[in-house]
Amino acid sequence: MRRNNKNSYLLRMMGIATVVSFIIVVSGAILIRLSSPNPAVQATTNPPTPSVVTSNSQPISPQLPSVSITTNSQPITIDKLSPVNNQRSLSNEPSYGHLSYAQADANQMIIVGSYATGTEQRFEGLHPEAAQALMKMIYAAREEGVWIIPVSGFRTIEQQQKLFDNQIKRLGSVEKAAKISAPPGHSEHHTGFAVDVADGKLPKQDLTLAFAKTEAYRWLTVHASQFGFELSFPANNPQGVSFEPWHWRYVGSANAAALFANARNR
Ligand SMILES: [Zn+2]
Repeated sequence: MRRNNKNSYLLRMMGIATVVSFIIVVSGAILIRLSSPNPAVQATTNPPTPSVVTSNSQPISPQLPSVSITTNSQPITIDKLSPVNNQRSLSNEPSYGHLSYAQADANQMIIVGSYATGTEQRFEGLHPEAAQALMKMIYAAREEGVWIIPVSGFRTIEQQQKLFDNQIKRLGSVEKAAKISAPPGHSEHHTGFAVDVADGKLPKQDLTLAFAKTEAYRWLTVHASQFGFELSFPANNPQGVSFEPWHWRYVGSANAAALFANARNR
């Protein structure tokens, strides 16, 4: 009897041990199963993450060089590939007074500064020739206590499209938007030789007509030409674009002057 009891006790214990080890194995398997989808989920979510980052940063920082490179190269290649001359001449037509400009290679642009408004910060780039001249001009102004800051430099056609669409929404018509902003493919900013500037001491007057009353603007009207810059849209300009005291183009090299020859010979 005692032996039987002992045996049945042993058997019971073995049974319990078996059940326990079974539970451990099963729960282990469940754990593995539960955890294994995670890498799978990560694997699927991982690839979109970079694309989310790039698409997010496109509007914010046209400026992050790596981002603008991807967006920029596309229209350029399309342009180069389009064999039909008609298409080219169509896109080269002025639009609401704004002349057509090819989009420069974003890889060539040099960062000239960053500009922050509220929650966004952008890095602005220009063609090296314009960038160097702008830097010289900014430092020369600073020597005289004038603080000029670059607000907007090189822009892709895609970025201009977004800006222009916003102006249409804000002002109600394409015609009104075109008075103060260039339609995509028609902005001097596509060249990397045009820059919008502001007075660092008066941030509220950035890109407004009030900029014309700042000391930065007054300094520019006297000195900008010494550094190769000129106002693209003075009051009553032949292109019929509204006065833009903040928008300056670099024409101090043969390269740059050729780009704007059409606009300057009007
Ligand atoms: Zn501008």
